[in-house]
Amino acid sequence: MSDAELINELQTRGMRLVDPTAGLESRRGGAGPTDHKAVTVGETTVMVPVHTAPAFDSPYVVQAPGSDGLAEVTKSGEPMGKIRFPNRPKFYDHKTADGIEYSKIATLHSRDVLATTVLQTCIRYESRKKTCKFCSIGQSLAAGRTIAHKTPQQLAEVAKAAVELDGVRHMVMTTGTPAGKDRGAAVMVESAAAVKAAVDLPIQGQCEPPEDNIWHERMHKAGVDALGMHLESVTPEVRARIMPGKAQVSLEKYFDSFRAAVQVFGRGQVSTYILAGLGDTREAILETSAELCRIGVYPFVVPFVPVSGTPLESHPAPGSGFMASLLRPLSQMILNAGMSAETVKAGCAKCGACSALSTYEKQRVS
Ligand code: SF4
Repeated sequence: MSDAELINELQTRGMRLVDPTAGLESRRGGAGPTDHKAVTVGETTVMVPVHTAPAFDSPYVVQAPGSDGLAEVTKSGEPMGKIRFPNRPKFYDHKTADGIEYSKIATLHSRDVLATTVLQTCIRYESRKKTCKFCSIGQSLAAGRTIAHKTPQQLAEVAKAAVELDGVRHMVMTTGTPAGKDRGAAVMVESAAAVKAAVDLPIQGQCEPPEDNIWHERMHKAGVDALGMHLESVTPEVRARIMPGKAQVSLEKYFDSFRAAVQVFGRGQVSTYILAGLGDTREAILETSAELCRIGVYPFVVPFVPVSGTPLESHPAPGSGFMASLLRPLSQMILNAGMSAETVKAGCAKCGACSALSTYEKQRVS
């Protein structure tokens, strides 16, 4: 099995651990890849589900790591390949000047990405009718694993330490959506400015499309190097069903904001997350991705992972065959548009740990 195939299989089916304490602790709840563990396959580090319903039934079993740090992955007793777990980051052992554990301010994603959810609350999460059904932003807050609002000073302090102690290479700043027309862009501005004043670290900001496109310039000026505005789903019916609140921001608004953002950040430095497996067909995702590529937006397509405690916890994850049939042509489309995970300055598309997409990019066929 090739590395890309093993990554695709593990990400869609999850894995069971013979030694559940192996490696860096897994993330539970929050935004981004929750209920996952970071593992390295060959040279690529990816996030693999471990606490989800499909993972409990996964045929992939990870044996305890040997003295060389490598752990064997088996399927029905047959060896499939070897993986490695990244070490616990050193910055987790510290507290901010105001006494908060650094790990409650930001966490390590994959092996060299610092990730934070600046506002751990969201106008869309507070109502059952409006919440995005895949989201668990309130769970880690309720469990006391994070704090509601990370101040610019706290983010700057933790980012500096994560660079110095653990060599992180870029930072992802996401946020729940606050009330107000900036839709999260204002907290990106103040947070990025503080981090950039403390340390030279490429930053990806993530927010909903701000009402006024002037915010793209403000974010860029403050130190945001790349921007993510996440469609999540591409078909109007799927958007309305899966994320009734967020779907009120129209696809037209997203595309208007994408075009304006590309003018500011450059081709390939604006991206969008698309969750495959929630009802969008392969053709619909590829068609929207073709349009995104045309205007210079990187379509970061990831397999949907059902998170425990969310309304979609029992929703099946997409099959590995479906993902491969999507990611293979998509990776070529992205390269043909002059974009790549490698050339993104910061963020999810660069990290690539939630999808096998960048691994397919490396297998360029033409
Ligand atoms: S792709 Fe994004 S959300 Fe996933 S691990 Fe990397 S930085 Fe985190």
